[in-house]
Amino acid sequence: MANKIFTEDLESKKTNNFRYCQGTLKDEISCVGVGLHTGIKVSMKLKPAAPDTGIVFHRVDIAGNGAVIPAVWNNVVDATLCSSIGNDEGVKIMTIEHLMAAFHSMGIDNAEVEINGSEVPAMDGSAAQFVFLIECAGIIEQNAPRKAIKVLKEISITDGDCIVSITPAEKGLSIDFDINFNADAIGYQSYYVELDRESFKSDISRARTFGFLKDVEKLRAAGLARGGSLENAVVIDENTVLNKDGLRYKDEFVRHKILDAVGDLYLAGHSIIGNYCGSRSGHVHTSQLLNKLFNDKSAWELINLDDYTPSLKTWKESFRAFA
Ligand SMILES: [Zn+2]
Repeated sequence: MANKIFTEDLESKKTNNFRYCQGTLKDEISCVGVGLHTGIKVSMKLKPAAPDTGIVFHRVDIAGNGAVIPAVWNNVVDATLCSSIGNDEGVKIMTIEHLMAAFHSMGIDNAEVEINGSEVPAMDGSAAQFVFLIECAGIIEQNAPRKAIKVLKEISITDGDCIVSITPAEKGLSIDFDINFNADAIGYQSYYVELDRESFKSDISRARTFGFLKDVEKLRAAGLARGGSLENAVVIDENTVLNKDGLRYKDEFVRHKILDAVGDLYLAGHSIIGNYCGSRSGHVHTSQLLNKLFNDKSAWELINLDDYTPSLKTWKESFRAFA
């Protein structure tokens, strides 16, 4: 079975053209954790998958063969506080964005995620432990060209003072984000990143989700944030960060917003060649942006990276997002 799917181990590959091939996990790997919103302990297994599978979630606690839900933009059923995907039977999986960010940045095109509950475990509230799991499982290339969504014209969503947009780019995915909170612990923060495996790992992956103590009771009354704690979130009371070890980056909050965007954008089904800009926006705006993009056939094209010709030299040197 393995030999049919896989060609060779990335670590042993001497050339760089694996960037233009699809990637999956070398082995399966499991973890256990608590959902941020449900508070329910779940087991999750990340498994290799065949070329052109994409990222597919599989609820193994559902009777029969379980429920299979591809992680794509038109399966998003809620993006209010986290990104949730679901199917016509009403089966859903919540809070997929941090795991999706890890898959996206680590160059995993194809994987099956088995989970015995309705929410991806929060782990430490960031993507760092998912990156670690993927690295422990190993990454291998597959005998199929990697595809990407190339943005052809600007698409934007405006909602009050929240704005998101995506514009054409010559190479890779860049993300520019700013936030402005009326709390001294956060205030105004902005950050820009050209996404690749190393920039994500070092500058983005460890940024944790965050919330205000005053909102926790409201969220819990609504059945949310039941698993949230100082172990998996930065919690702010008025102007103070309550976590005794403080922040992981001085601007951890905006970096986490970028982490969320990296995960949400991977619901395009492939990485995007474009410049994404978010201002005070959230999951719902990125979801609306993908809807608007894919409902305008003149706004994008699906390309094979090994066919990509404009600025090919720059492209090959720069597109490390897919490494
Ligand atoms: Zn998040």
